[in-house]
Amino acid sequence: MSHDIADYFHENFTEKSREILIRKGPAYLQNKDSDFSDTSKTYTDGDRSVTRYFNKSLFIRKLKNNESVERKWLLFSPSKNSVFCFSCSLFNSSDLNLCSSSGCSDWKHINHIILAHENNPAHRRSMITYLARSKAVGRVDIDLISQHQKEVDYWKNVLKRIVAVVKFLTSRGLPFRGDNEILGSPNNGNYLGCVELLSEFDPFIADHLKNFGNPGKVFLLKGF
Ligand SMILES: [Zn+2]
Repeated sequence: MSHDIADYFHENFTEKSREILIRKGPAYLQNKDSDFSDTSKTYTDGDRSVTRYFNKSLFIRKLKNNESVERKWLLFSPSKNSVFCFSCSLFNSSDLNLCSSSGCSDWKHINHIILAHENNPAHRRSMITYLARSKAVGRVDIDLISQHQKEVDYWKNVLKRIVAVVKFLTSRGLPFRGDNEILGSPNNGNYLGCVELLSEFDPFIADHLKNFGNPGKVFLLKGF
């Protein structure tokens, strides 16, 4: 059986091929030790040309808490010299980037494309579908599940603290925003003020602030 995800698109992923690939898991199709020199593409940047390649480091993701995790869902297709998403290719009918039949080879914007892809709700849904299906066929991808769970737990922890601050301010009818949204500013309002106060005693929130915003920089409510 082919190790190249692009070879499965011609049959439009029959239920049979889907099940076989679920049993094999993404590692079977990842090709992360391939020679990527053939992926070179030349872009024009003003009056000079720049050559870009697919970079192996994209198989690793740095989490907000500085932990590194493997991007197990990211696949390289040697025949197309492009990258695909394992779970979206299998379960998404929509034409998301990284799950079209030609994959993605926009190396100039690939960092942004991959980050946007893994934060896309459709991608998260396809990952959940994959994990549920792999469980159903008795193939539990422990690594992928724990990676997914770690992220879920991290954001649950952030949310818990946000909810506590929101509840506190709402119960006293206090305004959230101040004159600015700058960390460390005495005029950044009750919401950010409370978050900063929490961070003095709560190492989790202190780390989150350290990774998300620097004192003196604008720190938007929605980014927290
Ligand atoms: Zn995806």
